[in-house]
Amino acid sequence: MAVCRGLSLTSGGLDSQLAIKVLQRAGAEVEAVCFSSPFFDMSGTERAAKTLGVALRVVDFTDDIVSLIKSPAHGFGGAMNPCIDCHALMIRRAGELMERLGYDFVATGEVQGQRPMSQNRQALGVVEKCSGLKGRLVRPLSAKLLEPTVPEIEGKLNRDMLLDISGRGRERQIALAAEFGIADYPSPAGGCKLTEEGFARKLKDLMDHEGLDDRALVELLTRARRFRLPDGTGVVLGRDRRDNAALREFKLSGGCLFPLELLSPVNVPGPTALIPEVKSEGDFALAKELVCAYSRYDRLEGDVALNVGTVPRPYNREKFREWQIC
Ligand code: SF4
Repeated sequence: MAVCRGLSLTSGGLDSQLAIKVLQRAGAEVEAVCFSSPFFDMSGTERAAKTLGVALRVVDFTDDIVSLIKSPAHGFGGAMNPCIDCHALMIRRAGELMERLGYDFVATGEVQGQRPMSQNRQALGVVEKCSGLKGRLVRPLSAKLLEPTVPEIEGKLNRDMLLDISGRGRERQIALAAEFGIADYPSPAGGCKLTEEGFARKLKDLMDHEGLDDRALVELLTRARRFRLPDGTGVVLGRDRRDNAALREFKLSGGCLFPLELLSPVNVPGPTALIPEVKSEGDFALAKELVCAYSRYDRLEGDVALNVGTVPRPYNREKFREWQIC
């Protein structure tokens, strides 16, 4: 049989690791591909590729996922996750790589029926259609339940060695993991940050106000608390030293589309606040009070001094709850 070469989408999860192993056992040469964005956690992906001994290509997907968030053709899942479109576009991008690099197919670790919304038979068909990869998309874990793909029909990929897993049970995957010696994999429940309710609130707030065109502001979404003050001013408030340092660095680095304002206490420990655009004097006064309310003002006899001047007491953190996004 001629050598068959595939690009396998991987997240570092068990199913994508198993897909690679099943393909290798079926005689295919496999390279892994993954997609990066501020919303995806890549920590397990590189480790998994290393453990499996496959080369990993990392493709920047930020612009793609941002445009899907702005306009998801198949809507969102439970939060701000446009899963069907996201998955289809990842496969399309992998397909473009496949064409460019001369691979035979793209593979995924999808299992028919595993996720009621995004991996039922109809959704698998939609993903294949939207990806533009008809006949070149192999799902090795459920392949025997699906139409044969081009490399199977051409005899380049041995269909007999592919599997027929379906449904939400994990027994067969866990048994296969043991058989292949795969011990390091995350729980299957996780999605990216877009599936998290709190993160989705921050993202929606940014989209509705500053918009998603400033990539640096989008990247900043993974950090800090968010407030939206009454006249529409957004405040990004550091939670810890790392956040505060990142906010200062953000201001220094320039290149943001908005006239940034930075607030921080100078006579007491406390948070740094980044304001993309001050919308009113009233909001600016509130933002200064907010920074004081989250500072260690209990260590002071007098008032908190910020880099923009002193703010008289009292400071009341509770007052800001109604404007807190996350
Ligand atoms: S969970 Fe996130 S990365 Fe995964 S398909 Fe959905 S939107 Fe895309």
